[in-house]
Amino acid sequence: MTRIGLAILLATIATGSWAQAPHQHGHGTATITFEGNRLAIELVMPGADIVGFERPPQTPAEEVALAGATAALRNPIGIVALPTAARCTVAEAEVTVEGYERPTAGAAATEHTEFEAVYLFTCADAAGIRTIEFPLFAKFQNAEEIEVTVLTGRGPTEYEVTRATPRLDRGNFLLRWLTGR
Ligand SMILES: [Zn+2]
Repeated sequence: MTRIGLAILLATIATGSWAQAPHQHGHGTATITFEGNRLAIELVMPGADIVGFERPPQTPAEEVALAGATAALRNPIGIVALPTAARCTVAEAEVTVEGYERPTAGAAATEHTEFEAVYLFTCADAAGIRTIEFPLFAKFQNAEEIEVTVLTGRGPTEYEVTRATPRLDRGNFLLRWLTGR
């Protein structure tokens, strides 16, 4: 069982050096790292998906929307849902918001904004988790799909969850072997 995955993820959290590649609106990413009975979920989503605008807030309503979305992401309940049988509790939840600060005079405004949420869970049976639900699609109406990378001691596996199928299913190992994914 490698310890590299969670270590890298924790280092990323510590430095805040997450990817700044241009994103596609409607498309987020999630990296889910299993290590023993710990589970880390790093979610990165375009600002367009979360609040519908990617610039500093211009009205009191937009200020409220930004603060409300940040608060909503800070609570993993309603964002991701783990099977009850795994008996997981939230050990840490951090939200980083990028690109909504007003540019200083002369500086170029950012072209995109992003929300990053990192959740650390401690579970009675993390390895037994085969499905993860993403109720965030009900909360954020502009989110369409999330590319999910699951890291375990066996290496990475890619999945996709969508508004139509907001559920990750790790159960199909035969398909994984056949497709090499
Ligand atoms: Zn954008």
